[in-house]
Amino acid sequence: MHFPLRLRCDTSALSENYKRLSAIAGVPAGAAIKANGYGVGAVEVAHRLLDAGCRDFFVSSWPEAAELGFLPDESLSVLHGLGPDDEPIEGVRPVLCSTAQIADWKARGLADRPCDVMVDTGMNRLGLAMTELSAIEGLRVHTLHSHLACADEEHPLNALQLDRFRTLRNSVKAGRYSLANSAGIFRGADYSFDLVRPGLALYGGIPRLEARGVIRPVVAPQAQVIQTRTVRAGESVGYNATFTAPRDLTAVIVNIGYADGYWRAFSSLGHATYEEATLPVLGRVSMDLVTLDASAAGRLREGDWVALDFDLERAAGLTGFSQYELLTGLGRRLARSWT
Ligand SMILES: *Cc1c(COP(=O)(O)O)cnc(C)c1O
Repeated sequence: MHFPLRLRCDTSALSENYKRLSAIAGVPAGAAIKANGYGVGAVEVAHRLLDAGCRDFFVSSWPEAAELGFLPDESLSVLHGLGPDDEPIEGVRPVLCSTAQIADWKARGLADRPCDVMVDTGMNRLGLAMTELSAIEGLRVHTLHSHLACADEEHPLNALQLDRFRTLRNSVKAGRYSLANSAGIFRGADYSFDLVRPGLALYGGIPRLEARGVIRPVVAPQAQVIQTRTVRAGESVGYNATFTAPRDLTAVIVNIGYADGYWRAFSSLGHATYEEATLPVLGRVSMDLVTLDASAAGRLREGDWVALDFDLERAAGLTGFSQYELLTGLGRRLARSWT
């Protein structure tokens, strides 16, 4: 079957990002592959990161874990822990994150199995409170985690969370200790402990300025031209006629839209490229279509492919979407093709 829109995914950029993150941290890196590998494709990403040497993977929920049966035993953790309605999968560790989850784990007779534990050091999201650590007694804690709330900016919480996590390392017994996400890795080796847990930066996201020029882009959406047309000076383009042509111009209509994660916020702001030419978005992005000014791409024909500019830092600045939202929004209609 022919797919008129595709996502080019770069295996060497993904594995190089993985190796660089691990080298910067000075300890092994695990990989957050929740939300279908941040939209890139969890199964394909996990296979490639396994080849690159990754041995720790993180998803949010058990249905996500069930798709990854090919991973070696004890290499996958489920960040949301084990809820009352969840069935654990043998060889996959829950990241137990409340006293109720720990009590349930013990009540199910699973305390002899290795598990991970999340402790809250200041984010007030998932995790045991610093005052609830006695609940951990009797567990086989493979990896003890906490998660940084503000690693991508300068905020007093960073030092406070680091300090609390050091206290944890000295008071709670576990096989390994892990604190840093992508941004945390770029804060310096103090944050590394035994294992880091990047997500965003694996997929080309730039969580902090230090990552520029170090982290390589991994994904590039491309769409096929369905139609070319001439728009006459004074005529408008697209829904609500938000763009009016100042002169006669050549437009192309391409096969991508906000249903594919090319959000309406790109309207009249985004651009695509064809060979050396830049093709600005004209007017509103539709659900399945985008109109581009192809005046600078005289050789572009119906059936040709254009590359949508999806530089994550630039696109986030332009649209107000976070780099995370831009990646995870990439829709199912984009055929993933790995090079
Ligand atoms: C998603 C997630 C990560 C990865 O975070 P990035 O900012 O994408 O690097 C790490 N740890 C936990 C607990 C997470 O939920």
